[in-house]
Amino acid sequence: LSSTLGALREESDRMSGILANMDEGVLFLDEQGRVALINPKLREMLVLQGKQEGNTLLESVRHTELLDLLARADVGKPVEGEIEVTGLRPSKLMIRATKLEGAHRGVLAVFVDVTETRRLENIRREFVANVSHELRTPVTSIRSAGESLSAALRQPEMAQKFVDIIDRNGERLQVLVEDLLELSRIESKQYSPTLEPLDVGPFLDHMLGLFTDRAQRAQVKLSTEFNRDVPLAHADRRALEHVVTNLVDNAIKYAGPGKQVVVAVRGSERRVLIRVSDNGPGIPESHLPRIFERFYRIDAGRSRELGGTGLGLSIVKNLTESMKGSVRVESQEGVGTTFEVSLPTAPKVGQTAA
Ligand code: ADP
Repeated sequence: LSSTLGALREESDRMSGILANMDEGVLFLDEQGRVALINPKLREMLVLQGKQEGNTLLESVRHTELLDLLARADVGKPVEGEIEVTGLRPSKLMIRATKLEGAHRGVLAVFVDVTETRRLENIRREFVANVSHELRTPVTSIRSAGESLSAALRQPEMAQKFVDIIDRNGERLQVLVEDLLELSRIESKQYSPTLEPLDVGPFLDHMLGLFTDRAQRAQVKLSTEFNRDVPLAHADRRALEHVVTNLVDNAIKYAGPGKQVVVAVRGSERRVLIRVSDNGPGIPESHLPRIFERFYRIDAGRSRELGGTGLGLSIVKNLTESMKGSVRVESQEGVGTTFEVSLPTAPKVGQTAA
């Protein structure tokens, strides 16, 4: 007998061990609807404290949807549903419940936390909706300009106007598609930046040379402030080029005529900091937390007018983080905006990269 008891105890310990370490929540209600078993994960999911065993479910959890769902579980007919748990850390739980007969009568329910899955699904859905919306306007313009063009072929002046519309919208589509492709390239699993020691000062000097014309045309004064003795950054040239291009392009674009854009480089023992500042209109504080999100724009109309896609800053963030760097923004309405990219320094000779 004692060996059977021992074996039973061992079996029960083994089960408790498994239940305690499960990622799923497990609940077993006996025939009277009292909690017979609840594992630690489910206590955490439902934010329950203290002993629950012996309570009716209503005493333990005041969640009507959950109670309804479990009440619907029948023998051979498991029920499935999702509930939301409110509170400090709101979550979404998927539940499968089934009624058991035989030696262990009652309702067995398994809970899976699907908060993150649902959040990602939401992001994907929003993204597709945004892309479709962005594509629709230029495509509609091209189609209607195309129709008008056929009617106006004998009137060169009119025709030119429609050709211009097609050209402008075609370009808009191209920029959007390129930005989308870049995002998907960075976010694909295969992407990894080619990190190499990079002397950021000369690199930026060369790059900003390419902006001289553009700044002049926009009547913006573009200047640099590079500190001496800046250590080499550990960066991917192409990625950094893209990051700086987007930031400087935005600064020139949004600052507007008569304003200044300064690109500064500073270094410390472990980081290289690139700051792109402008004394333009600034970004209202309420928008700052979301500014790096895809398609987030303060004024969508103005952004489109200036040739923006709303993807620039999310590309900047993705690329910077892929190089183990970070980017942040400081801005004050009416005063200006500064974006700061912080990159790790290149490992010293004899030291391997993390
Ligand atoms: P966009 O293609 O619209 O420029 P971004 O992702 O590059 O998209 O930027 C998102 C939004 O952030 C812009 O629409 C603009 O409202 C704001 N923004 C970015 N940079 C600046 C800046 N230097 N000054 C003011 N607003 C800015």
